[in-house]
Formats: sequence, C-alpha cells, structure tokens
Amino acid sequence: MTAPVLEARDLAKRFPVAGGFGGPKRVVHALSGVSLSVAAGETLAVVGESGCGKSTLANCLTGLMEPSGGSLLLEGADVAGILRDDPMRFRRRVQIVFQDPYASLNPRRSVGDTVADALRIHRLAPRARRRTRVAELLAEVGLAPEHLDRYPHELSGGQRQRVAIARALAVEPAVVVCDEPVSALDVSIQAQVINLLRDIQARRGVAYVFISHNLALVRHIARRIAVMYLGQVVELGDAAVLRRRMLHPYSRALFAAAPEIGRPSHDPDRPPPLSGDVPSPIDPPSGCRFHTRCPHAEARCGAEEPALRAVDDRLVRCHLAEGFSIPKEP
Ligand code: SF4
Repeated sequence: MTAPVLEARDLAKRFPVAGGFGGPKRVVHALSGVSLSVAAGETLAVVGESGCGKSTLANCLTGLMEPSGGSLLLEGADVAGILRDDPMRFRRRVQIVFQDPYASLNPRRSVGDTVADALRIHRLAPRARRRTRVAELLAEVGLAPEHLDRYPHELSGGQRQRVAIARALAVEPAVVVCDEPVSALDVSIQAQVINLLRDIQARRGVAYVFISHNLALVRHIARRIAVMYLGQVVELGDAAVLRRRMLHPYSRALFAAAPEIGRPSHDPDRPPPLSGDVPSPIDPPSGCRFHTRCPHAEARCGAEEPALRAVDDRLVRCHLAEGFSIPKEP
C-alpha cells in the first residue's frame, strides 16, 4: 500500500461524565485502540451503528477533538506537534465536510464570501484574484457564477453541500473527512454529490475518510472499509475482499441487513439480523465488546479481549474468525 497521508495509531478518546445522584464521575470510552490510515487518492469508509464512535473519530482526525491517547500522523509527522507549532498547516491539509450543510455554513455570509474566507485565512489568493478563484472552485463543484452572491437559505440542500465541498477544496487539502455527507440530502441528490466527490478525487488525488451508516453506499464508493463497534475497529480490509465475505459476526450481521441488488432475500448464507441494544460505552462489556449480542459467543469471548489480527487478507477482532472463513477448495 502507498504511504498513508493520515494515520491513527491506537487512538483513544474518553469523556468524563457526571455520575448520577452525586456519585463519582464516570468515563465514556468513545474510542479505544483505533488504528487505521488512508492513502492519497483512496477512500476509506468507516461504518457502524450510531454510537459506535464514528463521529468522535471524525472529530479527532480533523483536530476538532484532542485524543486522550494514541497518536495521529499527517504525512508521517506527529499531528500533536503540528497543531502546537503550525496549526494552520494542519487545517489546510485536513478538511471536513459535515452532514448538515445548512448548519455548517454561516447564514449571514454569501457563497462567495464563505469560500473566499478560506482563501483569505490561508493566504492562498491575492484579493484581486480571489473572486475569480472562488468562481473556479464553484465551477469545480457544479455551481454557476451567479451563485457567488447567493446566501445559504437561497440554495437547495445539494447546492449547500456543494458550497461546503468547494470551501473544503479551496485550501487544497490532502485529506477530506466526510462525516455522513449525503445523509441529510434527498436520495435523488445523494448520487450527484457522491459522483462529484469521486470526480474530485480522480482529478486531485485527495484522500477521503468517509463516515457513513449507509452500507449500500459504502460498498459502492470505498476502496477499504473499517467496521466499528463500541469504539473499536472490529474488521478492516479491502472493500473487494469484504464484499466477498465478512468475517466478524457484527460486520456480517450489519451488512446482511443492508439491501443489495441481486442478492436473494432468502439467501441461506445470510446471518441473522442484529438483536439487542448497543451496550453503554460508559461500561463496555468485558472481553469481546460484542459478546452480549453475538450468536456465536462462547465462554472465552466474555473473558478475553480479542486482538485485531490478520485473517484471510483483512484485520478482524474475533477469537473465532477462522471459523467464519470461506472453506478452502479441496
Ligand atoms: Fe462473537 Fe466471540 Fe467473535 Fe466476539 S470474539 S465476535 S463474541 S465469536
């Protein structure tokens, strides 16, 4: 694999929360030992149920939250050091596109001013050339010059997300973290925005960390997929490998529940759907965090935490992963 542009090593994020009725403070374990990376021109999708830590991961990767442990590397350099010595460099290289474009745009700034602000703050275009450069960026995301003087409330949801993408691109990032970038949009618009992101990646070689709960979409756009459960990566590998077969019982159940064109609804290999609630990240289950919901759990699973390890061309966090592999041809 090519050298990563952004890499998380053993990342942890813990939040102290008040204990009930004056009890001692408790800790939410939002991320525990998360290691993953993304290379130039690649899309790494991060998927999981709500509460699995996806958005906390997005915030840590983009410097919006400080990790409690582990490290982040940007183009091989320690992010903590970059943020201390040259935070603007980090902000330029790593951008984020949020789920709700309306909330992420300033309603009192025109489209032109919003994108121009990024150029001005990072000193990327002299004042005389700024409007022309903004028009070029808007054209790149499929907006016309007349959108320059419009305000967010005058745009559709899809147009607002295009403005947010143009603002992110203005600073020529190496990585864009896309946090559920189309889930607030009409289905008919989602495909347009996804195709736009793909075109931009083909042209610019930008890396995407694509946070999503839309598994059908993830299958379509990701080169690699990381599945998260209760703050941990439980399976990580090439999308093509995972599309053939997932090994972790959680990822198998999660993806089995997602519609897939051409897959019969009575597929005998389809794992049972997920049952039970996601346990609290304040007091995650001992051993394998999935053991309270796993149909294959055995005594060892509740006592011993499985490591993320290589099995069948991917990383998987399950004691019994080999048992879920496709049987080898005799
Ligand atoms: Fe299920 Fe055990 Fe594997 Fe955890 S380690 S996913 S409980 S089989």
